Amino acid sequence: MLHDALIIGGSYAGMAAALQLARARRQVLVVDAGQRRNRFAAHSHGFLTQDGETPDGIAARARQQLLRYPTVTWIGATAETAAIVDEGFTLRLEDGSQRHGRRLVLATGVTDTLPALPGLRERWGISVFLCPYCDGYELAQGPLGVLATSDAWFHQAMLIPEWGPTTLFTQGRYHPDDEQRARLAARGVAIEATPVLSVGGDRATLQLADGRAVALAGLFLVPRTDFANAVAHGLGCALEEGPMGRFLRTDARKATSVPGVFACGDAARAAGSVSLAVGDGAMAGAAVHQSLVFGLG
Ligand code: FAD
Ligand code: MG
Repeated sequence: MLHDALIIGGSYAGMAAALQLARARRQVLVVDAGQRRNRFAAHSHGFLTQDGETPDGIAARARQQLLRYPTVTWIGATAETAAIVDEGFTLRLEDGSQRHGRRLVLATGVTDTLPALPGLRERWGISVFLCPYCDGYELAQGPLGVLATSDAWFHQAMLIPEWGPTTLFTQGRYHPDDEQRARLAARGVAIEATPVLSVGGDRATLQLADGRAVALAGLFLVPRTDFANAVAHGLGCALEEGPMGRFLRTDARKATSVPGVFACGDAARAAGSVSLAVGDGAMAGAAVHQSLVFGLG
């Protein structure tokens, strides 16, 4: 069967794209490996009408509503490669089977690479975070830390005091200059150069190299991100470099550099959220539909 659209990634962005296409009575295939980026978090915040709901709950309800449309097919699997063929695209899934479609939507999200500090990964989404808009409010103005992991350290350290008294841990690797020190001091940010060796405790107690322990309500850091799919590489989609990592270049209608391939959500923006993924997905879905009507301009 030749689907109108193949959507890789059935999370917030991919489902929002699929919904527009389903409502235009188009044949849509969603292929989803089920590894949403926020699966480590107990609650999702900041998305209208769903503030404080579980990430799984939001996705499950969206999927239930989407699958009411008879032209939507869902496969729980990983898509491994996509090839450009005469009538569109051929996807190869992990079991070796193939699926065919006239357009392709990459809604595959990103993967986060955290620094290799013992205790960090287990606390990701619980007391170690990236996004203060997502998780800052619940920390109730408790003592907070920023772990410098990349050139984004200054931006994050300036921002976090909105959510509680903040210490910047430079790991002895990042060196604020005089102007940065003055601006951080004006925000009340303390600077700690002694390296952090591990994270423990119920929340985030940092063990420092000189034997001290610093108990925090929450620790923020900027992970290294990469868009989560080899499929885009195989197709030759153009990339952009953001402060956290690479993402897929798209235009205002979420078209990539490869005709017929669209991308939405975290995979196609420098920094994302559930709301932005849903917005991007809705745009991509409508753009895919219109490209089926008017052709690829
Ligand atoms: P994702 O939700 O990451 O989904 C991508 C999907 O594509 C996954 O299901 C994955 O398995 C699938 N996929 C990837 N490659 C393939 C393939 N080859 N074949 C098949 N399937 C594939 N945002 C908020 O708005 N509020 C919050 O409170 C919040 N909290 C967060 C907490 C944490 C710890 C983290 C890390 C992020 C948080 N975010 C939050 C950000 C939010 O998770 C992302 O912005 C959002 O998930 C992006 O949606 P997406 O659909 O683009 O990608
Ligand atoms: Mg959250």
